[in-house]
Amino acid sequence: MYLVQSRPRPVPGGITGLSEAVVDLSAVRDNVRTFRRRVAQDVMAVVKADAFGHGAVPVARAAVEAGATWLGVAHAAEALQLRAAGLRAPILAWLYDPAELMLLSDIDVSVSTVAELQRVARTPSVHSAGFWVHLKLDTGLHRAGSAPDQWIELTRTAAHYEALGAVTVRGIWSHLSHGDSADAMQSTRQLQLLRTGVGLAHRAGLRPSVVHLANSAGAVTLDAQDTDLVRIGAGLYGIDELGIGLRPAMRLVSKVTQVRRIRAGEGVSYGHDFVAERDTTVALVPIGYADGVPRVAVRRASVLCRGVRMPVIGRIAMDQFVVDARDLAVEPGEPVTLFGDGSAGEPTAQDWADWAGTIPHEIYCGIGSRVPRRYEEK
Ligand SMILES: *Cc1c(COP(=O)(O)O)cnc(C)c1O
Repeated sequence: MYLVQSRPRPVPGGITGLSEAVVDLSAVRDNVRTFRRRVAQDVMAVVKADAFGHGAVPVARAAVEAGATWLGVAHAAEALQLRAAGLRAPILAWLYDPAELMLLSDIDVSVSTVAELQRVARTPSVHSAGFWVHLKLDTGLHRAGSAPDQWIELTRTAAHYEALGAVTVRGIWSHLSHGDSADAMQSTRQLQLLRTGVGLAHRAGLRPSVVHLANSAGAVTLDAQDTDLVRIGAGLYGIDELGIGLRPAMRLVSKVTQVRRIRAGEGVSYGHDFVAERDTTVALVPIGYADGVPRVAVRRASVLCRGVRMPVIGRIAMDQFVVDARDLAVEPGEPVTLFGDGSAGEPTAQDWADWAGTIPHEIYCGIGSRVPRRYEEK
C-alpha cells in the first residue's frame, strides 16, 4: 500500500508556531525561466525529496507554470503524490519497488536491466501501448543504469516488448558523475557514450521521444543540443553552482523566545562548551537539529537579528539554540533569520553548508517536518 502523504502544513487551528520556512514561488519560476533562456532543451523539474524540502506540490505547480514540461522524482510514492494533487505533466520516477508497479502505470519509470523490463512488461498499464519506460544507460556514474555490455540486449528486448504492445520506450537517459563541477571533460565523455547508446537503440528499432542526461550544472556546461530534456533540481531552488543568476527560494526564520544576561565565566547550553568571556546578553532561538539546524555548525554559525549577525553559542540542541546578542536590547518575539538569499545580510543556505561541511542540498532537505512551509510570491 502506498501512503501518499504531504508534510504537515500549518497545524489545525492555524497555529504555525515560532519558526517557518518561507518559500518564494516566484523565485522557482524565475529559476525555471533562467534555464529555459539558457538551454535549448526542455526542463524536467526535479521535485524529489519533497522538492528538496520546499514542498513538492507547490513547487511542481510553479515549475510547470513557468514552462517545465516534465516532472522528475526519485521515489514512486512522490510521483503519486503529484498525481493525487492534480498535476498532469509526465512524471519520471527512478526508484520503485517492482512489486508495486501496478500502482504506477500512469508514471514513466526508469528501467536498467532486462529483468526489470520483463517485470514492467508483465504489468498491466493504463496506456494502450503498455508501460512508459525510460531505458537508463550507465555512462560512468556506476550507480543505476545498464552496463554498456548489456545495452544491446536491453534495447533489443525492449523493442520486442514494444512490438507486443507491452511497453513504450519514451526515453533514453543517463546521469552525470561530475554534474556539479564546471569541468566538462567527464560529462562530455558520458554524452558521447549516451549518443552511442541512442544509436544502438535506434538500430534495435526504438524511437524514444526524449533523450536526457544533464542535471542543473550539466545543463549549463554541456553542449548537448541533441538531447531533449535537462533535469533541473538544485537550480530550481536557487542553488547556483555556476553563478548564472539563480534566486534562492527558501528563507528560514524563527523568533526569539527569551533573553537574559549572563555573567563572565558562565557557560551556555549542554556541556558548557561556550563560556562567556564578558557579561553579555544571550537570546534563545527555538529551532534545533530536529528541525534541520546542523549541530556541527556551532562555533561557525551565526544568524541575523536586528540587522546584525549574532553568533550561535553553545551546543545546538534538538529544539533550540542560543545566540550572543552582546549588548543589543533584543526582546522576545524579535524575528531571526537563519538563512535567506543574503540580501539583508543574513546567512545563505550555502553558508550553513560551509559551516556544516556539506552542500546546501542537504541543508534544504534537512529542514524538518515540524517547520511549516509558507508560500509567498514576490
Ligand atoms: C537529483 C537528480 C537530478 C537533479 O540534479 P541537480 O544537480 O539537483 O540539478 C537529476 N537527475 C537525477 C537522476 C537525480 O537524481
